[in-house]
Amino acid sequence: MTSPSSYPTINGQRLWSNIIETAQYGATPKGGLTRLTLGAEDIQARNWFRERCEALGCQVSVDQLGNMFALKPGRNAALQPIAIGSHLDTQPTGGRFDGILGVLAGLEALQTLQDQQIETTAPLLLINWTNEEGSRFAPAMLCSGVYAGVFDRDYAYSRTDRAGITFEQALRDSGYMGSDPIGKQRFAAMFELHIEQGPILEDRDIPIGVVQGAQAVRWYEVTLEGRRAHTGTTPMHLRKNALLGASRVVELVNAIALDHGPLAVGTVGLMEVRPNSRNVIPGTVFFCVDLRHPEDAVLAQMEAAFTSRLHGICSDIGLTHDLQTVWDSPAVKFNANCVAAVREGARAAGLETLDITSGAGHDAVYVARVAPTTMIFVKSVDGLSHNEAEYTAPEDCIAGAQVLLNAVLAYDAAHH
Ligand SMILES: [Zn+2]
Repeated sequence: MTSPSSYPTINGQRLWSNIIETAQYGATPKGGLTRLTLGAEDIQARNWFRERCEALGCQVSVDQLGNMFALKPGRNAALQPIAIGSHLDTQPTGGRFDGILGVLAGLEALQTLQDQQIETTAPLLLINWTNEEGSRFAPAMLCSGVYAGVFDRDYAYSRTDRAGITFEQALRDSGYMGSDPIGKQRFAAMFELHIEQGPILEDRDIPIGVVQGAQAVRWYEVTLEGRRAHTGTTPMHLRKNALLGASRVVELVNAIALDHGPLAVGTVGLMEVRPNSRNVIPGTVFFCVDLRHPEDAVLAQMEAAFTSRLHGICSDIGLTHDLQTVWDSPAVKFNANCVAAVREGARAAGLETLDITSGAGHDAVYVARVAPTTMIFVKSVDGLSHNEAEYTAPEDCIAGAQVLLNAVLAYDAAHH
């Protein structure tokens, strides 16, 4: 790939100061953040973001979902911009880095280019996506989802919080109901820097995760039916114990994940036993199964193993079963050119990388449906996230931000 002649060094101290400064908007006593979508603290963070972008000479536009787009001109205004995006909202007791790092690192990238009077060929676009967390208004990634055509606008508007306020009303009240039609602001590609929210980079002591995509997920609901009977009077060979069947399925799900390589995961996380009485043989058990793998084909093999062995377990014990697939989300593969730009960015920064797959949802996962997209991960201490103790060390934030800027410059040089 064609690389830029040199890469400017970001101001890491300024990036860290901005993380600390904006952490006042929704600060909790335990060092985390409560910054729910379009609440007072989110509005403060948005106002800060808008002022900083405008001070850099960016034009800030807002669409009908409150998504904020700060445009920094390039040499060729006819080109679609290269975007950097993430989110400024948090969980009710969230951390200071989830989403926020991606937006503030993007701001630092624009500021560095401004300081060093470096102009890109394509314009650059810094995006704050509304309601990524989905805490106040479910589902998560609501507004990048509408942008990408996953949900429609009126569905988003109809979402209500626990006080009965609709998303549309909250947008109007916040002053962030913009006039731009959704999708008006197009872009050529998007890069998202995010904390890993898992333990892998820390465990391997590697600073940069080159995210390949997001894993495929399937959720199932299973009901096993046996026969309720007295635990004292029913001999073992005449029982139809649904919980015995369920416990074998718990082992089965674990074994299937272990059998399909280090990237497969499988969990039974919820179970209801009926009648749930100490001296009644359980007649009915309801439980949920969660299977995930980065490859659709491997997930299909895991599902085939699960359904065939589920039949065997039930027939051995004399149970009947009902199996429903309640969620089927295919794997997402990030764009090869964007991934190559991230590799080049890390190489130029002299940082070791690990190829990694996202285990969580992100704005980039939806955006990837409509534009070339990828992500960069940095370490999360103890893999903790959605937690006030969430932490990423300054050197890791700075490393991620440097790779983000380098990747954008590499993409611009290679494609224009
Ligand atoms: Zn996030």
